[in-house]
Amino acid sequence: MKAFDRPKLRLFVEARLHAGAEIAATPGQAHYLGAVMRAAPGSLLGLFNGTDGEWQARITSLRRDRAVLAVEQLLKPQAAEPDLWLAFALLKRQATDLLVQKATELGAAALLPVLTARTQAERVNEARLRAIAIEAAEQSERLTVPRIAAPQSLAALLDTWPAGRTLVAAIERVPVPDIRPRPAPTALLVGPEGGFTEPELDALRSHAFVHPVTLGPRVLRAETAAIAGLALLQARNPPS
Ligand code: SAM
Repeated sequence: MKAFDRPKLRLFVEARLHAGAEIAATPGQAHYLGAVMRAAPGSLLGLFNGTDGEWQARITSLRRDRAVLAVEQLLKPQAAEPDLWLAFALLKRQATDLLVQKATELGAAALLPVLTARTQAERVNEARLRAIAIEAAEQSERLTVPRIAAPQSLAALLDTWPAGRTLVAAIERVPVPDIRPRPAPTALLVGPEGGFTEPELDALRSHAFVHPVTLGPRVLRAETAAIAGLALLQARNPPS
């Protein structure tokens, strides 16, 4: 199958993928295929599970809340993805949802919600955020879904930070270097609507693995800062 006629329908599944596998769709996926996408038995789609690449599958039966998907052939082998994480102060629900969707599209491998002094939310519905990430991975032709960590305090994040990973902290209104593309492994840290407090900024500055950066002279919403930061950390030099 050529790249241009790869099926547009894509679903993330938990099952292993190989030629001949028969996969039962979840009720939600069956509804999406039949009622939303108007697919029918015989329709082709792509399946991925985060490890086995993307496979072409054919719908062999489809009812309101049930579908069987027969796996046929490999469309795209699993490939290395950016080792870039996003740590973000938890935002209000809508902004958090947007941030999870966009960070998934932009290739973040892990999403780490952080509780800070000015964080406006304390809990996340992890199942809901995972569903948003899965949908964004399906739509953006990713082969993986980012890991979503449980919320943790900024102090815990800094205390348990893995050796060898740079934490690029986005900080507004202070003279710090411009954000630049970095070799992996890296993580971007974005603060809450109200910004980091002075003690939090001191804590960040006290760690050698933290690299404070600016995203420019304007004060961006946290979700804008996350999107711009993830894009800039992965920017490539234009061809000369
Ligand atoms: N309420 C804060 C204020 O007005 O002082 C602004 C916080 S901003 C809405 C939320 C987060 O986005 C910040 O903590 C920071 O991580 C990031 N951010 C926003 N604008 C930025 C900029 N120009 N450079 C770096 N980070 C920025």
